[in-house]
Amino acid sequence: MIIIGNIKMNKTNTQVKDYIMKLLPRYEQGKHETILCLPYTSLTTAKFLLEGSGIMLGAQNLCDEEAGKNTGEISGEMLHDCGAGYVIVGHSERRAKYKENAKSINKKIKIALKNRLKVVFCVGESLAEKNLLKTFETLKTQIEDGLKGLYENELENIIIAYEPVWAIGSGKTPLSKEIEASIKAIRKVIANDFSDKAAQKIEILYGGSVDNKNCSSIAKIKEVNGLLIGGACLDAINFSQLIKDVKA
Ligand code: PEP
Repeated sequence: MIIIGNIKMNKTNTQVKDYIMKLLPRYEQGKHETILCLPYTSLTTAKFLLEGSGIMLGAQNLCDEEAGKNTGEISGEMLHDCGAGYVIVGHSERRAKYKENAKSINKKIKIALKNRLKVVFCVGESLAEKNLLKTFETLKTQIEDGLKGLYENELENIIIAYEPVWAIGSGKTPLSKEIEASIKAIRKVIANDFSDKAAQKIEILYGGSVDNKNCSSIAKIKEVNGLLIGGACLDAINFSQLIKDVKA
């Protein structure tokens, strides 16, 4: 199982230090592949604190250009240099609040890969799309736009996170059979556009209101290779318990 904690814009560098110091003694190394996606300002600190712990470091976004005149942005190269091995791309908050479009997401994925960052590529339908029975159509478009121009071997460095927009932070989750069907639909798109082998190999996580109560049952759903956690990772003790509760 891959378990990713997305801290979002929630902790200062000092608070991240405190968080990691609480998390590490409670973390059982080797059980899951755990990735902590932190604010840019704490990446360097976290790199040193997490060394040898088995917990990997990720960022939450990157610029869609490689370098240069982009005041306030962060490049893939900078993230890699700070110790990040992963980066989230296409999170629904960025698509909605910061108007990230398909072209920009595709560029970000390519730049991340070029800079040796594994990509956690988020896709998911809105409530309106779900109600219009357009979930699979939305997923197909988002996957095809995001992965346009990639070679099959590059998929080894992509993790897909299926995150229905309406489930994020809402306390609502899809039915198990809906999660299974959506992930199957994603694999079908990968099979069509790349190969059956790539579709079986690619790791697909579920994210959206996963908490300490539902984590085990969601992790057991066929097709789910891991979990992306927002709110429930903010408390280190809570998050370490959640990691323990998910069966390997
Ligand atoms: C997220 O924002 O990616 C997420 C999964 O959040 P939450 O767990 O809080 O729904």
